[in-house]
Amino acid sequence: MKSFDVAIIGAGIIGASAAFELAGTKLRVVVLDRQQPGLEASWAAAGMLSPAPDSPRDIPLVPLGRESLKLYPNFVAAIEEVSGRSTAYAREGALEIFRAPHGENDRDHRVSQCRRLRIAAEAVSMEAARSWEGEIGPAAHAAAWLPEEGTVEPRLLMDAAVSAARNRGVEFRTNSEVTGLLIDGARCSGVLAGEEKISAGHVIVAAGCFSSRIGRETDLVARYAPTRPVRGQMIALRPNGAHLKRVLRSERGYLVPRGDGRIVAGSTSEEAGYEKRVTPAGVRRILDNALELFPALAGAEIVETWSGLRPGTPDDLPILGPTDIEGLLIATGHYRNGILLSAVTAKLIREWVTTGRATFDTRAFSPLRFAERKSLAQNAR
Ligand SMILES: Cc1cc2nc3c(=O)[nH]c(=O)nc-3n(C[C@H](O)[C@H](O)[C@H](O)COP(=O)(O)OP(=O)(O)OC[C@H]3O[C@@H](n4cnc5c(N)ncnc54)[C@H](O)[C@@H]3O)c2cc1C
Repeated sequence: MKSFDVAIIGAGIIGASAAFELAGTKLRVVVLDRQQPGLEASWAAAGMLSPAPDSPRDIPLVPLGRESLKLYPNFVAAIEEVSGRSTAYAREGALEIFRAPHGENDRDHRVSQCRRLRIAAEAVSMEAARSWEGEIGPAAHAAAWLPEEGTVEPRLLMDAAVSAARNRGVEFRTNSEVTGLLIDGARCSGVLAGEEKISAGHVIVAAGCFSSRIGRETDLVARYAPTRPVRGQMIALRPNGAHLKRVLRSERGYLVPRGDGRIVAGSTSEEAGYEKRVTPAGVRRILDNALELFPALAGAEIVETWSGLRPGTPDDLPILGPTDIEGLLIATGHYRNGILLSAVTAKLIREWVTTGRATFDTRAFSPLRFAERKSLAQNAR
């Protein structure tokens, strides 16, 4: 049986960045993926690095998002240096747009909320916003400026992270589906990939929305990681003449500029099972918002459409940390923020594996929160 210090299930951005970080401490790491690396949510993402909450349920996540944003420059610099590849990381900030009739009130409320959460934000006049982004549409009534937000191109980041991890000696096993965990008493001692057993001192579940389906017969992983897919559709546009420098966002969707002039428009949020599909209704919703924000896109070329499955969780928060099975850790459920959270997740995983404790308060994200609820419910029956 082949043996490693750490086996990671899933080569999305979470698995690849954790592998990169762990290999920096000279651990022997294997990452198993049932297909090629980086073809799921991490390939589909827009690439906004935004710790600002989308809903009240996101508020417990803000400190973790802020921490990850702080780590990002060094995180991408290390990946770029070791891989020799660009991630197209940029820190141009984001403009949030509010429509009439309550635009200014909504904007002021948002700015106060961000400041309370220690996220830099300021109200800007529409004149100032239009002097930065000349094509903002007439429906925009008020704007807020979030200067610290950044962007990355997720497909470039993915390629660079895998390549950087490989350069540090990480072994990637592709077309290698993990079908179960090896459990000895109260300890996880490795994984089962088809017929093959791989032994590991630590096993990390990082299989995105598919995490809950690993070893379905025993329900073991789903107890800690009850993930589900939340579909998001996306459209890439090549504008004819118009230019966008910063992320533009409204409550209905967003536009994210790419380095080559394309603009990525998103997204939908759909409970559609594991069905990755681009639908007429989804495309219409995204384009309606895109054209309202930026009417100059009306004559753009649609260069690509796609959809991906966000790893959702019952409380919309990620699932991070050790379980009560020795050697088994979870790093999944990053939902709408896995690209942002990859930097801090990789660091936390390294800390848990190498020292047994994390330097950041992660209690709200513990994998035990679902397992405990489940046993309470069972006892009550
Ligand atoms: C449309 C869309 C837009 C988004 N925009 C943003 C954004 O702007 N900013 C942001 O921060 N986040 C964004 N996200 C969220 C982000 O993409 C995800 O949170 C993140 O990519 C999750 O990464 P992951 O590595 O956990 O999962 P994934 O990227 O889904 O990777 C999981 C991997 O596990 C593998 N796998 C599954 N089951 C098994 C098994 N049994 N054995 C072996 N391998 C297995 C899969 O093949 C896959 O490679 C967006 C997501 C979508 C869909």
